[in-house]
Amino acid sequence: MHRHLSLAKLKNGDEAIIAHVLGEGAFRHRLTEMGFVRGKKVKVIKNAPFQDPVEYEIMGYKVSLRHSEAELIQVVPLAPHLEEKLQRLQQFRDFFLPEDENRQEEIAGEVADQCPQRNDDEGAREHGKTIHVALVGNPNSGKTTLFNHASGSHERVGNYGGVTVDVKEATMKKDGYTFKLFDLPGTYSITEYTPEELYVRQHLLEQKPDIVINVVDASNLERNLYLTTQLIDMDVKVVIALNMYDELTAKGATFDYQALGEMIGIPIIPTVASHGKGINELLEKIIDVYEDRDPTVRKIHINYGTEDTVEDAHYGFIAGALKETYQEPEVNPEDNKVRELDDVLTHRVLGFPIFLFFMWLMFQATFSLGQYPMDWIESGVGMLSDWVGTIMSEGALRDLLVDGIIAGVGSVIVFLPNILILFFFISLMEDTGYMARAAFMMDKLMHKIGLHGKSFIPLVMGFGCNVPAVMATRTLENRKDRILTMLITPFMSCSARLPVYLLIVSAFFTAHQGLVLFSVYLAGILMAILVAIVLSKTVFAKKEVPFVMELPPYRIPTLRNTTVHMWHKGQQYLTKMGTIILVASILIWGLSYFPQNEEPITTIATNEVTMSSQDVELLQQAKQEEHSYIGQLGHFIEPVLLPLGFDWKMGVSIIAGMGAKEIVVSTMGILYQADVNADEASDALIAELQQQNYTPVVAYGFMLFVLIYFPCIAVIAAIKKEAGWSWAIFTMVYTTCLAWVVAFLVNQLTPLFT
Ligand code: GDP
Ligand code: MG
Repeated sequence: MHRHLSLAKLKNGDEAIIAHVLGEGAFRHRLTEMGFVRGKKVKVIKNAPFQDPVEYEIMGYKVSLRHSEAELIQVVPLAPHLEEKLQRLQQFRDFFLPEDENRQEEIAGEVADQCPQRNDDEGAREHGKTIHVALVGNPNSGKTTLFNHASGSHERVGNYGGVTVDVKEATMKKDGYTFKLFDLPGTYSITEYTPEELYVRQHLLEQKPDIVINVVDASNLERNLYLTTQLIDMDVKVVIALNMYDELTAKGATFDYQALGEMIGIPIIPTVASHGKGINELLEKIIDVYEDRDPTVRKIHINYGTEDTVEDAHYGFIAGALKETYQEPEVNPEDNKVRELDDVLTHRVLGFPIFLFFMWLMFQATFSLGQYPMDWIESGVGMLSDWVGTIMSEGALRDLLVDGIIAGVGSVIVFLPNILILFFFISLMEDTGYMARAAFMMDKLMHKIGLHGKSFIPLVMGFGCNVPAVMATRTLENRKDRILTMLITPFMSCSARLPVYLLIVSAFFTAHQGLVLFSVYLAGILMAILVAIVLSKTVFAKKEVPFVMELPPYRIPTLRNTTVHMWHKGQQYLTKMGTIILVASILIWGLSYFPQNEEPITTIATNEVTMSSQDVELLQQAKQEEHSYIGQLGHFIEPVLLPLGFDWKMGVSIIAGMGAKEIVVSTMGILYQADVNADEASDALIAELQQQNYTPVVAYGFMLFVLIYFPCIAVIAAIKKEAGWSWAIFTMVYTTCLAWVVAFLVNQLTPLFT
């Protein structure tokens, strides 16, 4: 009998050979596609700061597993001493497929066992000279980078598994051919266990691309080629982009990719997508293959042997093919430096302070550094509205332009610098590979509240904007984790809520403004934790999938990628502003402009004998607002808001804020602004607010209400898209009810502060 141990029993630095993977279905499958198969060597690298999960090295890459999952992997430990090690190697040589000479012959036979070249020119006739190309590959293999370079489009790129959460399409021309490129989500295999896999599978089967570009990470061939073997099994024309070829050569490995290409009947083109190298050659090769003039292309049939070992056998084939073509380097001196860096970044004690420091730095830069361009934009908007005010004659159109459009959109455009800086940092964290380490460190904590280490990424992104955050939940494999993360993401105070907080804090809190602001953010996080615990114990009390997460190698990001990503986000924000917010601003303005108050000014002013003409105008405007449709709406819901200490104007702002939370500010601007110069808009608004009888307690309750209630239309749309109508409706209702309860409770504290 072999002496088997569970992988979880090993200590840091220990090595072992995998003997058997217990467990069934999705669990087993997930481990297999990541390379945890019989006969493979696995090494324990380190525990996360809270001991769980654990980082392992397998097939030359890093992956993290929870203890509970490592328990299910049976291994034969390798003794530390070389002699003993060799002895054991011999003892268990049946685990080493490539060492097995019979197996090698078998592989040679398999390779010889090929079908004739596929004759399929139906596609050519159907599309004319348009080539439909789909990019398929592991997460982080560089698909999006390649896609961007090939198409010149600015898609978002990141060094984190699953950043591509949707399909991107681009059209480009080359040598008289039109290329229709599709950037598909990253997958480790093409089965039906995750939405990404299902998506890729459906795209290949239903859209029938003419050519599939299989993007293979050259620094991690063994695992990447697993997907390739599945593509071979499907009836598709493949060209391999051997990406990250720079890393392979830097490492000192030698790889006869041409020989491998001939062996498997797929042309292989080395590329360095991040520098645009090899892309031209790749596109030329695609044309050749499309026109059936490439001699390499032929259909091979891989014999995987008996049925019960079919998954493992893919790796057997790969190992055999690589044995003949790929030569590992001796030792890489760079490895030590990277390991030292990683040891510090995920250190038991230092890891968290470093992480918090990065978070602090990110927020500091976003909000302090962002202040300068913000001021410039603010004065620019002021100048514009002054100018428009002087060149246009009085009337509804001028009011619409100045008070509706410029004031409304202007109060939003000032946040563009913050958005750009925030996304610059998030993109930097993703591109360097640090984001995955953060998830690795956070898993234990996240697990405690029923979430997944990966949930952490959408939650952090939520501070920027909840919409991409909700979309980023797709990186979670399990529906339960996805929906749970989606439901609590809106409690992360997005940048659109910040203007509301800034306004209220400036108006009602003279001391400790920073602390008050911080407490609102913290309240959101606490709310998220609370809701997550409650939901994971009730609605989502179900078994979970294994936490198998790739830890991509640390990479120095290219400025191009990071800035492209940043601009992309900025663009999204501006588009959102240009559409939803513009429409909402006009709507709100219209609702408060009509119907016009018919009551003559003199009637209003007669009672107040000492009024100046300016005051009369102010009062008239206030009367107009109250008389208008929006005022009526605010009055209508006032009874519900009264227990919270809110009045109808706050009610109006809350209703308007459902479109997007920034609109709460622009609505207040319109409701309270009365007679102020636009270049002093925010100061004047603060002054106006201070005139009202709101107490700081009510003001605080209002901030919490804005934080918690109905996220915004765009978020609801995103949730609907990801999880369906029922969860979208659930989110609308439960957040609004929760907001009411919280603001009500806060209002009960009023006596304590008076
Ligand atoms: P995807 O998940 O497959 O879409 O991968 P991405 O396109 O987001 O790329 C992941 C990371 O790899 C990014 O940080 C890229 O800058 C980097 N990258 C992409 N191609 C190359 C390459 O050829 N060489 C190197 N060294 N890095 C690359
Ligand atoms: Mg991508």
